Order: sequence, then structure tokens, then C-alpha cells
Amino acid sequence: MNRLMVVVPCYNEEEVLPETISQLAMVIEQLLSKEKIAANSGVLFVNDGSRDHTWEIITQAHSKNPYIYGLNLAGNVGHQNALLAGLDAVRDNCSMTISIDADLQDDIAVIEQMVDKYLQGADIVYGVRNDRTQDHFFKRFSAQSFYKVMSSLGVKTIYNHADFRLMSQRALTALFEYKERNLFLRGIVPTIGYSCDCVYYSRKKRMAGESKYPLRKMLSFAWDGITSFSIRPITMISIIGLLIVFCSMIAFVYTLLSYFIGHTEPGWPSLMISIWFLGGVQLFSLGIVGQYVGKTYIESKERPRYIIKEFLDHKEDFSNDKKN
Ligand code: UDP
Ligand code: MG
Repeated sequence: MNRLMVVVPCYNEEEVLPETISQLAMVIEQLLSKEKIAANSGVLFVNDGSRDHTWEIITQAHSKNPYIYGLNLAGNVGHQNALLAGLDAVRDNCSMTISIDADLQDDIAVIEQMVDKYLQGADIVYGVRNDRTQDHFFKRFSAQSFYKVMSSLGVKTIYNHADFRLMSQRALTALFEYKERNLFLRGIVPTIGYSCDCVYYSRKKRMAGESKYPLRKMLSFAWDGITSFSIRPITMISIIGLLIVFCSMIAFVYTLLSYFIGHTEPGWPSLMISIWFLGGVQLFSLGIVGQYVGKTYIESKERPRYIIKEFLDHKEDFSNDKKN
């Protein structure tokens, strides 16, 4: 019954962790006192191969506090994978999970609203920042450009939503149907399709410690997001190729005219025309080959074709078969 697990990936977070642990444990106690969640609810801290005392802090907290759970990964696998490891560990035994960063930049006060929305029937509740004034200019600018590029490439993302979200058990089960290695959660979750809702909050400054996302990691994360969802960049190569072939037609007319007017050196017209035309044809062909490679790439992900929401059945004839 309504067991909630909050999943927190942690990488070298010793400075902020004691505060995070006490604040999240407090949230669980409050929700319990209001009887919104089950008594065996808790917070799972995933140690993502930290090199500081993060795991010791988690172990100590676990021995003192019945709501604190810990999962220690063998090495550093990155934020997204650490989060997945945590979700995977709890998904069979809880009704809902909330993922949140260890630095408490996301407002824990809205956790209760998330649970309320779950109780009203939402399967996925996104935490959305409606205020980024606490982020410095570059982070804000780069994040906003990222969401714009993603949507222009046809990827469904929730604007200004990071990885602070509630997911019901069946939404999680659906998430783990996606077999790809390179899971870009912010892009995948909106494609699952169960009923969803949003809660709004303003993003705070990191309480302590430093951001674990330097520019290099941020760029590679954004690039991963784009390339694991869209093969439109390949289509763009074909289009540019076609445009160049078209330009070669214009160049053809222009060179012929110049030739007849007598403004040309010998050999120049044929050189001009072949450079443009061959360049265009080559790029276009590359694009076509790319389309096939892209299709293979999409196929290799083995994503689920559909996710079932409800099945009206008699005596569970069909639904029983599914489970076996
Ligand atoms: N994190 C992780 N593994 C990593 C990098 C980060 O588990 O390799 C965690 C980190 O401890 C934090 C969350 O991912 O809980 C988000 O990181 P951070 O707050 O540094 O990112 P930012 O908010 O600056 O984008
Ligand atoms: Mg942060």
C-alpha cells in the first residue's frame, strides 16, 4: 500500500549529505504522520563510486534511521546510471518512487504535492523549475538552448524539468522495457505515455559541495540526449546534399553563360560544374547510407512498441497469461 521510495544518486557528496539525509527523513516522517504513504517507505541513497566519505555517511545513517536505505555501486557509472540502479533495486517492492539530486537544489517541499497527485491518479509527476534565477547565466543559457534544440529535433522533453520526478510502479515497469544502454531518462519518460502531471518550484543554489557536472560532462550529456533520440541530423546531411546539387544547376547555367560570353579560362567551366555536382551527389549519397545506419541504430535499441494502460478482462484469462 502506497510505499514510497525516494532515490538519491550521490557522487562525492559528503559535504551536503548529512543535511540531505535529515531533511529527506523529515519529509518521510511528515508524509507518514499524514498517512499519505506506507510505514515501510524510505529514502534510498545510491553511492556512485564516490572517493570521499559518502558511503560511510550513508551506512551510519542507515544504522540509526529506519527510513534510510543504501546501495553501493562498484564504481562510478554517472548520474543517469546510478539513478537507474536505484530505481531498479526498489521497483518491484514499492508503489511509487521519487528521484532527486543529493544537493537539494530541487525543492523538497513539493514532494508532498507529488504524492498528492499520485494519490489522485497520476502515474508520472514532473518537478518543473519555474525560476532559474539562482543558476548562473551560462548554465541557464545552455540549458534553455538544449531544450529548444531537442524540441526542434522532434524529441518530447518537459521544458525545465531535470530528474526530479515521481513515477508509479507501472510507469517504472514500462521504463525498464526500454532495452537501450544509453538511457536518456528525460527523453524516455515522456514517451511512456501514462497520465502525468507537473508540480512547480524554484530551483535553489547547491547547499554545499561543487557541481559534478562540469562543462565537458554537460556537453556530452546534451549530445547523448540528442543522438539517442533523433536521427534528424542524418536527414539534414541528405538535405544539404540535395541543396548543393541544386546549386550545381545554377553554377552550371552561370558557367555556360560565362563560357559563351568569353569570360572564362579553358578548363574552368568543367571544373566548376564537376566540383559542385559531385560534391552534392556525394553528400546526398552519404545521407542515404546514413538513413540506413540510423534505422539500424533505432532497431538495435529494441524499444517497446507500445505500453498497455488497462485491459478489460474476464476472470483474468488474458492478464494471467501475460504474467506467466
Ligand atoms: N552524480 C552522480 N554521479 C556522477 C555525477 C553526479 O551520482 O557521476 C549525482 C550527484 O551526486 C547529484 C546529482 O547526480 O546528486 C546531480 O549532480 P550535480 O548536482 O552536481 O549536477 P548539477 O545540478 O550541477 O547539474
Ligand atoms: Mg545540482
